[in-house]
Amino acid sequence: MNPDPADRLDHRELNRDLAIFATDPLAGSGLPLWLPDGAVIFGELERLAADLAKADGCVPVKTPVLGKRALFERSGHWAKFAEDMFPPMSMGAGPAGSEGSAGSAGSAGESGDELVLRPANCPHHALVYKARQHSYRELPIRLHELAPMFRAERSGVLSGLSRVRQINLDDTHVFCRPDQVADEAGKALVSALRAQEILGLRVDYVRLSLRDDSPSYLGSAEQWDGAEVALQKAASAAGVATVEAPGEAAFYGPKLDLQVIDSAGREETIATVQIDFNQPERFDLSYDAADGSRRRVVMVHRGTVGSMERVTAAVLERYQGRLPLWLAPTQVAVLPVSPAQDQAARGLVDALLAEGLRPRLDPDGSLGARIRESRRRREPLIAVIGSAEADAGEVQVRDVAAGVEGRILVADLVAAMKGAYVSRAAGVAW
Ligand SMILES: [Zn+2]
Repeated sequence: MNPDPADRLDHRELNRDLAIFATDPLAGSGLPLWLPDGAVIFGELERLAADLAKADGCVPVKTPVLGKRALFERSGHWAKFAEDMFPPMSMGAGPAGSEGSAGSAGSAGESGDELVLRPANCPHHALVYKARQHSYRELPIRLHELAPMFRAERSGVLSGLSRVRQINLDDTHVFCRPDQVADEAGKALVSALRAQEILGLRVDYVRLSLRDDSPSYLGSAEQWDGAEVALQKAASAAGVATVEAPGEAAFYGPKLDLQVIDSAGREETIATVQIDFNQPERFDLSYDAADGSRRRVVMVHRGTVGSMERVTAAVLERYQGRLPLWLAPTQVAVLPVSPAQDQAARGLVDALLAEGLRPRLDPDGSLGARIRESRRRREPLIAVIGSAEADAGEVQVRDVAAGVEGRILVADLVAAMKGAYVSRAAGVAW
């Protein structure tokens, strides 16, 4: 890695060598296409998000990317975000009798509706919670989904993976009792910090985003104060210092934001924990309390890994394209020196594939050219098999990022790589 920040490449420059994503004017700006190697990274990030969510007791749900305009009017997004949303799609009134009579009673009244691409996943998750009644004893309920949401960014601001119109977000909504809020916020904060640690991404500070005097915030002063206290408790329980930022809250509640500052001094929020008393009111979300009464549930929005687009751009830039083994599209280039070692090379490739690892066999051309090609692709490991190595059941392996090189038994290489992959280690333990 080059220590001089001026020589560091941004993710769009790295993408020229790495083929992670493509953009095409015909597809539309801000709508990147994930190429095969990009899809591997996306898949690994998705798996990380699912593992972290599962470890915290979140359950997966799947909800649609579009919904009736009325859904987002109910949530408040329409009033606050309409100009950042794509224009509604009118479903039209249709010819008389066509829609109303063909459908069940449930579809009556659908004609003339408008559908919008969702600007957030929360309203759908509120409806998932509401799909059945809940008792105080089954809370908290944590719903996880890694799903797209949409933002009608102007074409002038769109750039690579960092500003896009479809955002694939790792998103969880917790529905809990008021007495569980601080614990849930703390759990979410710890998980978000853990995700960034696994990814090797720096968090510069944790921001406690509060409201200011503006009248645009929803909810009572009492709710805001209670939520602020809960977030402060959560942060101190996690041993995290916060910086207060009035005016940075979401319109429905205060939040903890994981902040990073890039080399150009631009600040960005990479994950958040938000307390929300407002959506539960708007969607009438409740639970049956111990005394038989119905009580209002509290919603905690938790972002852990972040958006697939932003995280991919961030890790590419952080590692200058040479990703840790668990995240790298190709984990090792396997290079037989001559055709006599093809069988040994294929044996190694098969052993790696059997363990769920991602080797790339490159048999043709001069050894020097193949090593240069592997370095251009920023592959973490290069394994060369000559006649001496093949005879001994070994490979000559080079760990490019660690600057380690040596001969190792095939079985030991497979085990070391598997260990790094399964533990999502920053480096291979040789
Ligand atoms: Zn949300």
